Amino acid sequence: MKELKVDAIKDGTVIDHIPAGKALKIIEILGISENDQLMIGTHLSSKKYGKKDIIKVENREFSQHELNLVALIAPSATFVTICNFGSVKKSQVELPAKIERLIKCPNPTCITNNEIMVTKFLVESKSPIAIRCSYCERVYRIDDISKFIIPLQV
Ligand SMILES: [Zn+2]
Repeated sequence: MKELKVDAIKDGTVIDHIPAGKALKIIEILGISENDQLMIGTHLSSKKYGKKDIIKVENREFSQHELNLVALIAPSATFVTICNFGSVKKSQVELPAKIERLIKCPNPTCITNNEIMVTKFLVESKSPIAIRCSYCERVYRIDDISKFIIPLQV
């Protein structure tokens, strides 16, 4: 597929440089719904990354907390906040050293799955991503936890 010229948006967010095939997962975890005005481009050509996906969401802005979720799936992703057809803020997503609440521990015997409490993971490695549960001490790779990311409530 050739580079697609997606329509410009007035206000909203463009999430670019997503590894090809990951756009739908990002839409799911960011809690983007059918009611949002959304444009998705998949498997677009990118000089830098080979193939990439891109998402444009009208009238939505994302916080740093939300960006952290994207970094788990797409560490190379960039964000542009658009205001009145101009870009106001461009940033690279960044995986924090510590992740709270956003992920459920995959270990069924972990105390976080048996008591009402906030989960906490420490990032052990950024490439490839590996995180350690602060309670049961188990280490997980991104493939182990992608099903355990808690989608944002909108
Ligand atoms: Zn655990």
